[in-house]
Amino acid sequence: MAARRPPETGSDLLIEVRDMTKVYGTGDMAVQALRGVSLDVRRSEFVAIMGPSGSGKSTFMHLLGCLDRPTSGSYRLAGQEVSRLSADELAIVRSRQIGFVFQSFNLLARTSALENVELPMLYAGIARETRTARAKELLDSVGLGDRLDHKPSELSGGQQQRVAIARALANGVPLLMADEPTGNLDSKSSAEIMALFRRLNDQHGLTVVVVTHDMGTAAWSKRVVTFRDGRIVSDTPVAEAVPEPVRVAAEQAARAAVSPPSEGVRQEAPA
Ligand code: ADP
Repeated sequence: MAARRPPETGSDLLIEVRDMTKVYGTGDMAVQALRGVSLDVRRSEFVAIMGPSGSGKSTFMHLLGCLDRPTSGSYRLAGQEVSRLSADELAIVRSRQIGFVFQSFNLLARTSALENVELPMLYAGIARETRTARAKELLDSVGLGDRLDHKPSELSGGQQQRVAIARALANGVPLLMADEPTGNLDSKSSAEIMALFRRLNDQHGLTVVVVTHDMGTAAWSKRVVTFRDGRIVSDTPVAEAVPEPVRVAAEQAARAAVSPPSEGVRQEAPA
């Protein structure tokens, strides 16, 4: 799954951000959400973005995700300068480069797991047979091969998030961005979701960027970037940012979650 594309440029850098600023509003109402942020992320990294509420994490995530444009500064994604593209051009970049996973899953309610995963491929103009085959393959690989026809309401939270991850990967994107992906999940389902991110990162070379305020979630990453007042105040390997007991707990949960995907499904009770 998540077929890894060869780098489109000679560069190993997937994300290159330089002096990025973002100001919301104007005049007296202006809010400087980002005050000059620079960050490089190589392909196959797993980065957690942390920081207190209001520090600029979501703003940065929106900009990295090509959902919005910076006020100033540059952003090269897979070698392409994207900071001045139009909304339509950004939509094309998103569909080719980025899969999104949100706290609230954002699945279509009256639509089966299979159709939810097919949707991005439908927008991308992929033929029906290919679409269906790939959606099945993706759902199988996240342990939901036996839940294809289930609607979101017939799935547990952890299962819904796995559908959302399969959907995010539908177009074979190199970058997965997640905003508080475990915020609505119990601790067991959270561990399963983070273990899935780790597997996609370790085994499929997917680049993962996760925004979280939770140390237990950040513990699964390999690098932690911390924001404060619109700036990056630290950027370290996970071992320096997350206390050892929290990392050990994540590693134990990872080992427990390494059971075959179908087993994981059977263990999980529907909501
Ligand atoms: P975090 O995700 O770390 O909580 P945000 O990026 O949401 O931080 O917010 C950073 C700052 O920008 C905050 O002061 C917030 O109030 C402000 N902000 C965020 N979005 C908007 C917006 N759409 N309009 C005006 N101000 C905003």
